[in-house]
Amino acid sequence: MKFTQNTQRLALLAGVVVLALLPLPDFWITQLNYIALYSLVILGLVLLTGIGGLTSFGQAAFVGIGAYTSAYLTVNMGLSPWVTVFAGLAITALSALVVGWITLRMSGHYLPLATIAWGLSLYYLMGNLDALGKYDGILDVPTLKLLDWDIGQGRPFFVFAWGLVLLGAFALINLLDSRTGRAIRALRTGSQMAEAMGVDTLRYKIGIFLIAALFASVSGWLFAHFQHTVNPSPFGLKMGIEYLFMTVLGGAGYVWGAISGALITKLLEDQLQVLLPQLIGTSGSYETIVFGIVLVLVLKYMPDGMWSLVGRYLPKPQRVNDWQDAAPLVERAKPATGDTVLEVLAIRKQFGGLVAVNDIGFSIQAGQIVGLIGPNGAGKSTTFNLITGVLGLTSGQVKFRGELISGQPSREIARRGMSRTFQHVKMIPEMTVLENVALGAQLRGHKGALSSMLRLDRAEEQSLLREAAQQLERIGMGGSLHELAGNLAMGPQRLLEIARALCSDPALLLLDEPAAGLRHQEKLALAAVLRQLRDEGVSILLVEHDMDLVMDVCDHLVVMEFGTLLTQGTPEEIQQSPAVRAAYLGTEH
Ligand code: ADP
Ligand code: MG
Repeated sequence: MKFTQNTQRLALLAGVVVLALLPLPDFWITQLNYIALYSLVILGLVLLTGIGGLTSFGQAAFVGIGAYTSAYLTVNMGLSPWVTVFAGLAITALSALVVGWITLRMSGHYLPLATIAWGLSLYYLMGNLDALGKYDGILDVPTLKLLDWDIGQGRPFFVFAWGLVLLGAFALINLLDSRTGRAIRALRTGSQMAEAMGVDTLRYKIGIFLIAALFASVSGWLFAHFQHTVNPSPFGLKMGIEYLFMTVLGGAGYVWGAISGALITKLLEDQLQVLLPQLIGTSGSYETIVFGIVLVLVLKYMPDGMWSLVGRYLPKPQRVNDWQDAAPLVERAKPATGDTVLEVLAIRKQFGGLVAVNDIGFSIQAGQIVGLIGPNGAGKSTTFNLITGVLGLTSGQVKFRGELISGQPSREIARRGMSRTFQHVKMIPEMTVLENVALGAQLRGHKGALSSMLRLDRAEEQSLLREAAQQLERIGMGGSLHELAGNLAMGPQRLLEIARALCSDPALLLLDEPAAGLRHQEKLALAAVLRQLRDEGVSILLVEHDMDLVMDVCDHLVVMEFGTLLTQGTPEEIQQSPAVRAAYLGTEH
């Protein structure tokens, strides 16, 4: 498979050279050169907006930084464009980090608004600085030269620019198919699950903002030396909106959607600019109106963009199981049987006037399965969220393996070996079961974005996938590794979450209603897995409504009612407790 992918890629690169050798009219070559410049920017937007779910209207500003930096330094200081490209990237990176650090904490519509503000302010900055030639810009920007060969125009530029576009696309495809890529794809589902898997979501958001900005910066650099002049207008907000438009039109979720979006827009624009004035009889920017209508239609009838039409018919590379011989991941030292793993000390959570968890305390010994039971609304899930750091405590303490963990973010608690599932399943529907589960092993790998893009992460990646496949087999889902998680029924979705939690090699596993939606056979299998885990030294805190399962597997039960601790004890004691019978079991049966 690796071979075929590499041959495909070489064929695409060779295709660019072949196209350049064909007797295409120069006009088309120029058009395609512009399309390459747009494509680079849109590739970044696919990652940022389509995959990461962060909308930016400010990409044109980063194109501007790349273009102006190189134009200024080559014209005024006589530096070579091959040097100034890095200066542009450095300034872009710095501004992306600052802008990202400030804006990416914002949610909802604040982020797009902030990027609009950023795009506008940079535009006026470029237009008002004397050193940058104000609105006239910088003229006589030198062409790109390889020794004495002018590769800044026509066919040589075509090969160079499209070569960069393809390399960028390959890098993104590699990135998305990796440990880092899974974390990026988890961003859109909200931060709770990703953080529980140990992903620092803010860091990854800033990361994709940075990558998208760098792609834009390279486009700007090419643009400056291709046009031989820069002025603020191509880097304004209008262009920022157009880039987003092209991304959505082509298919924001697909790397190849980026290129098709740029292609369709540019070609359509050219045709319309000639056609519309003939049709209407007067000239004007009518194509803008047509684009508006097209965008509305695409959003309505093809929310995945144009590429989704094509992509559907292309063969999907089936992932081969190439991880069998991968090195196993390092396992953490588990607490010795009998050690106290978790100590919950009078934890309390108030939501306004409601005391959802009222000074609850209990502990879990290594090798124990503890059940947390109680009627709906008793506060079990809230207790889970307090222990795992998803919610902050109103008061009380939580100690895990002897260390105080209350107040820590959930990813830090995950790092220490606590892993969980959610009452309402949280997964990434458009990823396969295997990839979803591998997300659980996030903290057991270390390779970052750059190694993924360059495919230097393969050995580690195979170890991660091997672990994910093993956990899925253990839970009885070995047959659906490559299914899309979104296509699973409720029961298997819950099993997927358990496998994902197991992938982190937890010392303590918290399962919130794992048997809900499971069939009888699946419940029996689940009970067997839970016992097996306990025998391996994993401790488990289990919230479950299925009393047969709870009584069957638990060593100790904690009963909650209206946020308070009703009683705790062995399953036998709980079954005999009159208080429990009255308050809980009575209502259950
Ligand atoms: P359980 O999991 O035992 O069914 P929960 O922990 O989900 O119960 O809820 C306990 C109580 O806290 C319920 O009354 C619920 O409505 C309330 N509650 C839970 N989460 C929130 C929240 N984020 N804001 C306000 N009230 C909440
Ligand atoms: Mg609950």
